[in-house]
Amino acid sequence: MHVKSPRRVFKLRANNDKPFVPEPNTGHIYLADLDKHGKDVRIITQCVDVLHQKAGSKLVVELHGNSRRFYCMECDREYPYSEIPLGEQNIPRCPIDNGIIRADIILFGENLKPRVLERVKTLLAESDLLIIAGTSLSVSPTKTLIRHFESNKVVVINQTPLDITDLSIDLFISDPVGETLSKLDIH
Ligand SMILES: [Zn+2]
Repeated sequence: MHVKSPRRVFKLRANNDKPFVPEPNTGHIYLADLDKHGKDVRIITQCVDVLHQKAGSKLVVELHGNSRRFYCMECDREYPYSEIPLGEQNIPRCPIDNGIIRADIILFGENLKPRVLERVKTLLAESDLLIIAGTSLSVSPTKTLIRHFESNKVVVINQTPLDITDLSIDLFISDPVGETLSKLDIH
């Protein structure tokens, strides 16, 4: 589930429901298997659903945050989902300072975290192969971040071609990501 609105979190928590956690698909599992075979895989994702971690990937940078992590906006204390305290009107509030507890995700109109952006730039600069999968890169600033990739091997797996001029693409595959990756040799 992509938790786009804090209100949905309030409501779920008030009803004592758990967010639905889908299962990783064959693409997530393939990438995690590469880790297990000793490949240096760095995943930069715009998803907030934690599926890469659930599949077993070790290095995942979440540009838009993580819908399973909750923190107080005043003091930054983290609360496990099942222990989020509810205040008046079932609004999740920190018992220490009454700050609102929210999911650690970037909401529409909010800027990405500078620390995360710097991490992504470093990872891109260090990598020797860039696979852009399942995204049209239409959301800023992701499109401009790819300029930090300094090597020259670029593969795109996406249903539609990308409108990018900063990189030359070596291989474009227009099939679904999971299906494509699951056909590749792991070694
Ligand atoms: Zn607090």
